[in-house]
Amino acid sequence: MATKYIFVTGGVTSSLGKGIISASLAKLLQARGFSVTIQKFDPYINIDPGTLNPYEHGECFVTEDGAETDLDLGHYERFLNTPTSQANNVTTGRIYYHVITQEREGAYLGKTVQVIPHITDEIKRRLLLLGESGEFDIVITEIGGCVGDIESLPFIEAVRQLRWELGVNESCVIHLTLLPYLKAAGELKTKPTQHSVRTLSEAGVQPDILVCRSEHPIPTEMRKKIALFCNVKINSVIESLDAETIYDVPLLMRKEKLDERVISKLKLPHRADPDLDSWKEFLGRLKNPTAAVNIALVGKYVELPDAYKSIVESFIHAGAYNECKVNIKWIQSEHVTDENVASLLHNMDGVLVAPGFGERGFRGKLEAIRYVRENNIPFFGICLGMQCAAVEFARNVLGLQDAASTEMNPNTPHPIIDMMADQKEITQKGGTMRLGAYTCELKKGSKAYSIYGKSKISERHRHRYEFNNKYLADFEQAGMQATGINPETGLVEVIELQNHPWFVAAQYHPELKSTVLNPHPLFVKFVKAAINFGKSN
Ligand code: GLN
Repeated sequence: MATKYIFVTGGVTSSLGKGIISASLAKLLQARGFSVTIQKFDPYINIDPGTLNPYEHGECFVTEDGAETDLDLGHYERFLNTPTSQANNVTTGRIYYHVITQEREGAYLGKTVQVIPHITDEIKRRLLLLGESGEFDIVITEIGGCVGDIESLPFIEAVRQLRWELGVNESCVIHLTLLPYLKAAGELKTKPTQHSVRTLSEAGVQPDILVCRSEHPIPTEMRKKIALFCNVKINSVIESLDAETIYDVPLLMRKEKLDERVISKLKLPHRADPDLDSWKEFLGRLKNPTAAVNIALVGKYVELPDAYKSIVESFIHAGAYNECKVNIKWIQSEHVTDENVASLLHNMDGVLVAPGFGERGFRGKLEAIRYVRENNIPFFGICLGMQCAAVEFARNVLGLQDAASTEMNPNTPHPIIDMMADQKEITQKGGTMRLGAYTCELKKGSKAYSIYGKSKISERHRHRYEFNNKYLADFEQAGMQATGINPETGLVEVIELQNHPWFVAAQYHPELKSTVLNPHPLFVKFVKAAINFGKSN
């Protein structure tokens, strides 16, 4: 069957949850047996979000092939349980970069290079790329930003052209809008939706389906009104109420028959109703916990939990698996000191020290790690969290006073964490870290080995610094083992402390591989350790 294309646009405001709606629709179609992928087109000029501050854009999600991408790709993977790749995230910057590079190479000799057709052609080429692989029945493209934004225009124009070229029933457009509730008037308002659909129509794109975010149920009369003003069928006005959890949204969309509307619009072959048993089972466990744990998440971007999106979601998956509610206590690492660490952490069942960059909050992370190491509280370090665990151990157990990472102190006499050799020559910032999937060999008999249940694993990375193997023998002698090693380079990937109930830290990012149907074993076992710790206290 020829690949069908679904475009998801947004209007009225940002943050309506296009990513979750796209992922939920994809889930419903996948659960009917279609192969589906989702891609995100972002209208900003950065080549990718790798150079953006997490405060600005939330977490940077890294794919298997090492692309630094928008956090929505994390949702796509968590919902669909299939990996995405560089091709699944495209920005205006990447489009222009390609066109301008081509221009310099002489690809357009004699021609004026213009937004239409050259930029829109390149957008269209990328819109079709995944579909042309032959792997997918359906490609869903989420267009970032709001219709009406100047920077979205070339994308909307490319969608207009492509729909025309693909022909009827080959594509459909879902427009996500908001029906604000006016308390004083006591009613939902449709005008912003009418306006945003009009803006989209003026650009030549008529949506087929409207998904209306709303805090209250949408009365039938109002659905009729929206249908009338916006040129859609009444059954294509889909209500999207605020959900208790994002993982409810596929079921809510199923109830509203979003998948059926899409199937009929695209004339997709008939398939059985979606098989959502395992999804529902997950929701059942998520909503009926039999235990609860408090886990401190120590990081410097805690004011914006989106900066740690994949970690938070991994805890949701692992919590559900353990039928345990995981309460995350956000701790700003900058505020942790020798004096307050006990009062901050004493009633925690586990502590996770988060990934990050730069000096700010580094000391507080070391204090938190010292406290959990000395008090046998389950500890999980990720990336910078693992590097901090190594520095803390060097300082407080090995007695190397000024031990540090050269990221924080380039002149330290004890560079426990140092820049990787192949990073030293690099001056360009974007896309140049050690990125994506690498294999790792776990030592038999270690905690890591028993957690994964196997020795050969593959995990995703995003870092420039590494554990300095010069110190490894001293570490191991004093009880901190390197239990995961990259077999090709010898880089330390996992360290764990002997004589501690659960002290495991990884240089890689396990949170990037946790999905609803495949919760990550490290998170699952960390939550389990926290449950046991809670019971014993
Ligand atoms: N800043 C550290 C490095 O680059 C850790 C990165 C991270 O936590 N993702 O190695």
